[in-house]
Amino acid sequence: MILSRQFKAPQLVLVVDDQEINRDVLGMILEDDYEIIYASNGREALEQIERYRDRLSVVLLDLIMPEIDGFQVLERVRGDEFLKQIPVIVLTAEKTAELRALQMGAADFITKPFDMHEVILARVSRIIELSEGRQLISAAEHDRVTMLYSRDFFFEYANRLNRYHPEWRMDAVVMNIENFHSINELNGREFGDNVLRVLGNAIREFLGKDQGIGSRIEGDRFNIYCRPQADYADLLARFQDRLNTMSDDASIRLRMGVMPWQEGVEPLLLFDRARAACNMVRGDNQSRLVVYDEQMHKRELLNQRLLNDLRRAVEERELCVFYQPKYNIQCDPPRLSSAEALIRWKHPELGMISPGTFVPLFESNGQISVVDNFVWAEAAGQIAKWREKFGVTVPVSVNLSRVDVFKPGLEETLRSLVESNGLDHSALKLEVTESAYTENANQMIELIQCLRDDGFEIEMDDFGSGYSSLNMLSSLPIDVLKMDMAFVRNIEHSEKDFRLVEVVLDIARYLNLSVVAEGVETQRQLEMLRGAGCDIVQGYYLSRPLPPEEFEALIRKEISITRE
Ligand code: C2E
Ligand code: MG
Ligand code: MG
Repeated sequence: MILSRQFKAPQLVLVVDDQEINRDVLGMILEDDYEIIYASNGREALEQIERYRDRLSVVLLDLIMPEIDGFQVLERVRGDEFLKQIPVIVLTAEKTAELRALQMGAADFITKPFDMHEVILARVSRIIELSEGRQLISAAEHDRVTMLYSRDFFFEYANRLNRYHPEWRMDAVVMNIENFHSINELNGREFGDNVLRVLGNAIREFLGKDQGIGSRIEGDRFNIYCRPQADYADLLARFQDRLNTMSDDASIRLRMGVMPWQEGVEPLLLFDRARAACNMVRGDNQSRLVVYDEQMHKRELLNQRLLNDLRRAVEERELCVFYQPKYNIQCDPPRLSSAEALIRWKHPELGMISPGTFVPLFESNGQISVVDNFVWAEAAGQIAKWREKFGVTVPVSVNLSRVDVFKPGLEETLRSLVESNGLDHSALKLEVTESAYTENANQMIELIQCLRDDGFEIEMDDFGSGYSSLNMLSSLPIDVLKMDMAFVRNIEHSEKDFRLVEVVLDIARYLNLSVVAEGVETQRQLEMLRGAGCDIVQGYYLSRPLPPEEFEALIRKEISITRE
């Protein structure tokens, strides 16, 4: 082994440049380490490459030459299955030419006038080293569906662009297709692949000769590292138009996130942020494009902090549960019927944080179960404590996140909680938000059915904010509709809104469900709801969510009414 390495012939380098001075300088730099052959134009270069095809380690290729120029040489070499294994380093003074050459498959570039000797030597030897392992990676360079770069190659490339050209401004763009899995499921994988291909073509066309590089990172996620564009909305519209040609009903929708170039920030981080921006695109009416900005940066820092702090929050008991009463308003005065447990976080430095800030965050990474398990245990314990103290059971509903459904052992957890506290199953009610049913209908329905069979009462939360059809509603295993706040908000001022509330109440009666109206803030709203036949309301007008000690006053009051 050692012997063979010692006596290995020096590696062969072809230097191609029409200017003698350049050939000379490169020769001088490389001659101690390599065997060198020369060509002074494209035609000679091709001849030499062909002649030494089995021995050439690397070609140093000038781009601008009369007649056959470097691009043409590159194109020929890349078009040949065997020759394309030989790495080509391009020599150029012009930036756009470099990018184009890289896109055509050049392995690297050396700028003119030439860098320091050491730099050139280092590049040449690195490229040779890389290419010796190249057969291994070449197959992985491209994604076969879209012909864009594979993930690893893309990032390696982006890093090199940064390293060699720190002065270039490059934006990071992330795109994905909304609900791509449903598109696949509804139309078949082949159609799905076609969608990816059409988008891949559109991206490659956009990148053209010198706009940048693109990759399909995974599934339906695309990264583009490109020169700053004047109008990303326009770019997005162009891509979207291409997809619209594939289907009449415009059901294939793109989302785009952009992270504008920032000095000294690595491509990986730029793309993390572009991706975060892309994930911010939600809902129907919003623009499909989000550009990462300072506010998002702050939000991301906060998210990071909250994610880091969650464990401590549980251990140090910074999390606590507030209770908001629900009242039966068909009685006079209204009677306390139950409560909803709502999580609060008393952060030692950030103060009181509301669930709107962290619930969606923890849902997105699965940690919401930590919060929910805590709340369920607290709530079950609290019901038992109050029963002990006041001799009455105040049923409490807890929120179940869409994520909890996927955790094995949920049913067991809830059952053992009520049993270990000596409660009836009906004392702990479960609220599941409407959209969770529509997202993964079958799994959800199956689980909820089991829980209901166990005796838990099921409330559909935020009803009216999602898209469940009447048809679906009638077959869901639920007991209560919690009408979304949006219904109640305007009933005093809009007859139409009030009519809608009446319709919901009609539907509920028809389906034999009771209704809880959320977000009742005024006496007038309460009276209108009572008049329309709504039984139960929850809202600031009757009480804000309260810490358990304060909630006890409501229980006492309730007991005194009962005694009267
Ligand atoms: P939700 O389950 O629909 O809870 C009702 C929300 O409405 C609560 O907000 C409550 O404070 C608020 N609210 C009650 N009455 C009024 C009113 O009259 N006017 C207005 N404007 N708001 C009112 P909160 O506590 O900030 O919770 C927000 C959401 O966070 C909850 O909506 C629920 O989806 C989620 N959440 C809260 N606690 C938990 C939990 O322990 N686990 C899970 N997974 N989610 C939770
Ligand atoms: Mg709720
Ligand atoms: Mg709600």
